Amino acid sequence: MPSGTPQPTEPATPVEVVVATPAHSGLADSLTYLSRHSLPPGTLVRVPLGRRRVLGIVWDAPAEDAPAPTTALRPVEEVWTALPPLDAHWRALVRFAARYYQRAPGEIALAALPPTLRAGDAARLQRRLARPGAGPTPAPGAGAAEPPVLTAAQRQALQAIEASDRPVLLFGATGSGKTEVYLQAAERLLRRDPHAQVLVLVPEINLTPQLLARLQQRFGDAVVTLHSGLTPAQRLRAWLAAHQGHARIVLGTRMAIFASLPRLRLIVVDEEHDPSYKSQEGARYSARDLAVYRAHLGAADGCRVVLGSATPSLESWHAAQTGRYLRVEMGERMGGARWPRLRLLDTRQLPRGTVLAPALLQAIAARVARGEQALVLLNRRGYAPVIGCGHCGWKSACPHCSAYLVFHKTERALRCHHCGHRTPVPQHCPSCGDPDLHALGQGTQQLQERLAMELASLQRSDGTPVRVGRLDADSARAAGALEDTLQAVHQGDIDVLVGTQMIAKGHDFRRITLVASVNTDGALFASDWRAPERLFTLLMQAAGRAGRDAAFVAAQDSAVELWVQTAHPGHPLFAALARHDFAAFAARQLQERRQAGMPPFSHQALLRAEARQLPVALQWLTEARAAAADLPGAALVTLYAPVPMTLTRVADVERAQLLLESSHRPALQAFLAAWLPRLHALRAGPTGRGLLRWAIDVDPLHF
Ligand code: ADP
Ligand code: ZN
Ligand code: ZN
Repeated sequence: MPSGTPQPTEPATPVEVVVATPAHSGLADSLTYLSRHSLPPGTLVRVPLGRRRVLGIVWDAPAEDAPAPTTALRPVEEVWTALPPLDAHWRALVRFAARYYQRAPGEIALAALPPTLRAGDAARLQRRLARPGAGPTPAPGAGAAEPPVLTAAQRQALQAIEASDRPVLLFGATGSGKTEVYLQAAERLLRRDPHAQVLVLVPEINLTPQLLARLQQRFGDAVVTLHSGLTPAQRLRAWLAAHQGHARIVLGTRMAIFASLPRLRLIVVDEEHDPSYKSQEGARYSARDLAVYRAHLGAADGCRVVLGSATPSLESWHAAQTGRYLRVEMGERMGGARWPRLRLLDTRQLPRGTVLAPALLQAIAARVARGEQALVLLNRRGYAPVIGCGHCGWKSACPHCSAYLVFHKTERALRCHHCGHRTPVPQHCPSCGDPDLHALGQGTQQLQERLAMELASLQRSDGTPVRVGRLDADSARAAGALEDTLQAVHQGDIDVLVGTQMIAKGHDFRRITLVASVNTDGALFASDWRAPERLFTLLMQAAGRAGRDAAFVAAQDSAVELWVQTAHPGHPLFAALARHDFAAFAARQLQERRQAGMPPFSHQALLRAEARQLPVALQWLTEARAAAADLPGAALVTLYAPVPMTLTRVADVERAQLLLESSHRPALQAFLAAWLPRLHALRAGPTGRGLLRWAIDVDPLHF
């Protein structure tokens, strides 16, 4: 029985508890209950809420001037004494995240617990805790894989991580040995401190199975993973192992930043620039930024944080330039792997509608014939992004979104990538009846088909036909499909891999000598001002997939190349790319942003509103803006006019937003905190009642 009976303290005294009720967001941080036991903050309890009983966490006492509860207090019903309380650092992290991202602490705190705990399955928890073998996992010892001797650059990085009281930005090309530095930093720490824990954050676990394998090789059972792909039972097990200190290394995605790690001494944020560290729903937190804060909380205990990337976010780069972070630069790629040479293909000189320039096709064919591999990047899945009628001009618009239905040839369907709407491909134009419908533009399916056709006459050295594989969200949907494809590339069963940005992630393919980006310009001129940064990062990452095995490349005597098809070969982004010069690219971007007063030289937040009718959303934002005039900090905050989002309608919901900007972060924070109660009041008003949802996004990444 998990509900314990500690010594009663007569009489019952008030205790603060946070629960996961969105209804309370913006009202009180915690609710007051009565308890006859003295309950330390962080204890899990069951409390009545309306007619429900919910899981709550005993919270720290509110400030002295908090208003006294007006209603009669209800008692705590159950106390989970089987679990140690969530510690003060964890609660401080939750408090900070709630304040910074303008959410209720209870929402963030309870969302951080495994669903099984949240569901209040005390019996299951008890069974789990009763199971034998849940002792501390020993630090790595005999039998663990022998680590390589570090290079001078790696040793320097390791020392910096151990000695720096600032966050370390580990800047080094893909393959320069950053991961090895993380591993050895963790290893030394665990040897020094028999209880220490390490948190390693990655953008996505499935895309980097090699990191998990490397960790397990070194640390064996001391590693657990935490991500949304786990079953409830796995998630509970991993969470408990971390909470009880049995897990020494937690490898996880964004959500793992909220894991309970009482002896956390090192946080690694790998690929720190990756936008998936920023949550796009609920509390829109940045796990990267919270990692920095979490390490700051643990600084007195010697907790360190290292952010690693070959293409750091401009925010982190800037922080390193101003001295808030310590930049440590790694040297060349390991083993003398060569950097690809950039080859720009001017698409203006190709016949209209050319998918692959003949020169590129030839280069791919030549490599395949020599037993090498190629990656072809196209950031658009499906067969064609839209189909149209040659007679009347009809196009396959989604009935529910301001977007086109994408033609998926393999399923013979038109599909909306935003709302999931799906319909068979029409035989005739739905508008004029003409049978002359054709695919416009190209997606990964079509590119795969094209390449397979073009390379069909080729044979590999063993006489078997050339294989063109595909990796995108569609091909990876089936269980195990992603792993199978990656495996096939590793084993050389796939010669050419076509795919979306998924193919650019950390895979350690050994025989790639050519990487191509065939439809680059969309990203160059996207409406989002971060688009160039994302494109540069993507191309650098993609380039990093090529020529990883220096010995192989030398034996092949092949030039390692990155081909880019673009109508703007003179764009300065490509000049920096040609030299693999992230610093030059960053300097230029930062200069532009400084001039324009954009982040990181200003701080932003978005107020988003969604309604069935666009005017309602816009009207509410207008009211919200008017209600802000006399708020503290208002003089230092610019509120722009509400506008529809670029992709205005999704699943019959109209979306609009209002941008806030300030050069003074505390002013923006104070302003948002004061604005929030008014927004809640406006939500209950005549316009607000017509809204479906609203939310504040602090430090938004997407516009
Ligand atoms: P990154 O994380 O920067 O991409 P890795 O740490 O994965 O780089 O290193 C790239 C490759 O070099 C890996 O195969 C790794 O095992 C190997 N490697 C890293 N450090 C060393 C070293 N000091 N000695 C030998 N091989 C190393
Ligand atoms: Zn028509
Ligand atoms: Zn749609």
